[in-house]
Amino acid sequence: MENVNFKKWLNDMQLDHPLVIAGPCSAETEEQVLEIAHELKNTDATVYRAGVWKPRTRPGTFEGSGVKALPWLQKVKEQTGMLTAVEIANAEHAKLALEFDIDILWIGARTTVNPFAVQEIAEAIQNTDKIVLVKNPINPDLALWMGAIERFYKMGVTNLGAIHRGFSSFRKSKYRNIPSWQIAIDLKAKFPNLPIINDPSHITGNRDLIFDVSQTALDLKMEGLMIETHCNPDEAWSDASQQIKPARLIEIMNELKVRKPRFEKEESVSKLNALRKEINEKDDQLLETLAERMQIVENIGKAKKEGNVAVLQNTRWQEILSKVIEKGEEQGMTKIFIEKIFKAIHQESIAHQEKIIKS
Ligand code: PEP
Ligand code: MN
Repeated sequence: MENVNFKKWLNDMQLDHPLVIAGPCSAETEEQVLEIAHELKNTDATVYRAGVWKPRTRPGTFEGSGVKALPWLQKVKEQTGMLTAVEIANAEHAKLALEFDIDILWIGARTTVNPFAVQEIAEAIQNTDKIVLVKNPINPDLALWMGAIERFYKMGVTNLGAIHRGFSSFRKSKYRNIPSWQIAIDLKAKFPNLPIINDPSHITGNRDLIFDVSQTALDLKMEGLMIETHCNPDEAWSDASQQIKPARLIEIMNELKVRKPRFEKEESVSKLNALRKEINEKDDQLLETLAERMQIVENIGKAKKEGNVAVLQNTRWQEILSKVIEKGEEQGMTKIFIEKIFKAIHQESIAHQEKIIKS
């Protein structure tokens, strides 16, 4: 993924702020589309988004205006100079979006999960110089996200970027889709040239949380934001609770802090280096402690083998877990974090004991 031209395109834009893609969840009527567009002209938004074909969870709700909305987007471009973006979910959408000269095509989260659908779209738009943005799949699967991006790249689509819109989860959360930031960070590590746009609207599902998630995205050096915007959000035909007014978008953009990529002052650099050295030492100690713990686990495994006792001792494990959670929380760490770490340690311990017991 060497030649990602979207990165160059972004640099050439010479924006003094991250790229902003704004506009309604759905293109509802021509008046609604144009009213929002004219208000967005006074904001940092460079690209106008609107869903034309809407992937709704249940039938019987508004499924988008369809092809008749594409000329409305052409009017947005003519009247405001903004670029336009729509979601495409099959080859027919792709063909129509190209025919109506839409500038940016995005692949929705429900499409990214399906390699057949992605391949069909990639073939339909092969060698296009339009910008294609691939949203993360609804399930937290980095490989699936990468795979969809690679399918476009292989078909000669090089104006590529990703959109981080969070992941479905059974866990109760204040978010509609939990961000799992690490997956976006991992994507950046795999494809360093691929710009990532954050979509705080679909992450939060709640307009009150948009600012906070946007700031985290910028702190992680994401290249842009896609924010659903509507002149009358409460009356929107889809995703009403997460849309904001153009005036709020202006406030958010004014309040967001864009941080420098690295420290510039000499003294800050040496302070940072000293702290990093301390972190490295702590990591070494953690690894040594874990290795020592694993040694004890193996000795217990040998005893279990001799006594022909089961590897999993659930009462003991529950006892350990509640004790470490309590202690961890006392020391300012979250329950979720401690649980994750100790479940991973326990899993590795069981694997070591299984090996011993089966030997
Ligand atoms: C959208 O952007 O309106 C949309 C449907 O998003 P997602 O695919 O992230 O659910
Ligand atoms: Mn939406």
